[in-house]
Amino acid sequence: MLRCLVVAAVAIAHVLGLGLRPAIAQGQSLAIVRDAEIEELVRDYAQPILRAAGLSKSGIDIILVNNPSFNAFVVGRRLFLNTGALMIAETPNEIIGVIAHEAGHIAGGHQERLRQQLARVQTMAIVSALLGAGVTVAGAATNNRGLAGVGSGIFAGGAEAARRSLLNYQRTEEATADNSAITYLNKTGNSARGMVVTFRRFESAMSLSGTRVDPYLVSHPLPRDRIANIEELARKSRYWDKKDSPALQERHDLARAKIAAYTAGPGVVQRLFGAGKASLASRYGTAISTFLYGNPRSALARTDELLRERPGFAYFHELRGDILLKLNKPADAAAAYGRAAKLSKGSSTMLAIARGQALIASGDRKAVAEGVKVLAAGLAKDRENPVAYRFLSQGYGALGEIGKAELAAAEGNFYSGNFREAKIFALRAQTRMKKGSPGWLRAQDIINFKEVKDK
Ligand SMILES: [Zn+2]
Repeated sequence: MLRCLVVAAVAIAHVLGLGLRPAIAQGQSLAIVRDAEIEELVRDYAQPILRAAGLSKSGIDIILVNNPSFNAFVVGRRLFLNTGALMIAETPNEIIGVIAHEAGHIAGGHQERLRQQLARVQTMAIVSALLGAGVTVAGAATNNRGLAGVGSGIFAGGAEAARRSLLNYQRTEEATADNSAITYLNKTGNSARGMVVTFRRFESAMSLSGTRVDPYLVSHPLPRDRIANIEELARKSRYWDKKDSPALQERHDLARAKIAAYTAGPGVVQRLFGAGKASLASRYGTAISTFLYGNPRSALARTDELLRERPGFAYFHELRGDILLKLNKPADAAAAYGRAAKLSKGSSTMLAIARGQALIASGDRKAVAEGVKVLAAGLAKDRENPVAYRFLSQGYGALGEIGKAELAAAEGNFYSGNFREAKIFALRAQTRMKKGSPGWLRAQDIINFKEVKDK
């Protein structure tokens, strides 16, 4: 189940520790995608690269943003990757190249310095960049009047010098990140061809329409000599001709089909993978589309067919669970999610959370108690998960533990950025809890929480 969580930008900024209140006060939000399959895939792309960059112990989080454009950027220790990038990239290698480039920025401490630089020119709308619009950097890095107008308007006046110095600064960082990326790709035995493919794609898009401004280009300026530079270095590598393994390519295609089905509809699945050819990815995308928009029974038949072909693939079992839940068979769904969790080697808690949801939906008291246990364990590992809190709250409610249900509702609202509702639920939770108990103290934290202020 691909879930799209709309989180208030103010909550993200809080989590990221950014003091950006003025820039994000207008109720902006960020659509974050949570999905066990895609998270596991991207983690498998990133881990060797982060290790090569000496970043494997720095707790770099990868966050998927529901946005159809190609974009990737770094804020603090978090690497944001648009679902559009995964859908547009035809091979794992292209995404691995993008991650290597971003790792180059993180290892070089670029983003931090860029932020200081931005602070100096008095524009801190970095959350706009975070939203995929790239407003701040766009205003700073291009001469596009329209775009600068979208930003804070600070650049409308006499800030031309600041703008130019920032652009130069950014160009240096891009070249450094490219060089680092190629080092990491060589270290991990990956070709840098994907990087070249990505940049060439942007180059041809630019020449096709001079006015189009791509968010990725805004955060990563692409002067002509940059591509030539990368290509020259990339071709020198002995891995230039190396291809992704067929198994990884298949997982990539399946993930693209899933993203297409969830975020763009069945037409796009067919456009990407062909209607007639019936590749595994095409049939997976069709099964998901049928689950989302068509007859769940027919979706179940399609999924069982996929499972006959790949009985060990965790995410076909996950889809089976999604469909069974829709068919109002929560006990069977819980079993399917359990199988998926067992088969998945990933540490994503999303499958456990799905199982907890199904157990709670069953209404059977013993199953509900088990579901609550599963969700609480999942949340201990994956705290910022508003959906899981909603199910946990339902579970506690069904068990008659109202104080805990109110606290879970408070947490869910808190991590969605609905601080006012969070405080109301936290106050209600406290009336049912012993003063000073762990739950009471957590409720107090939420009550005392102050929204990020401009630093
Ligand atoms: Zn860059």
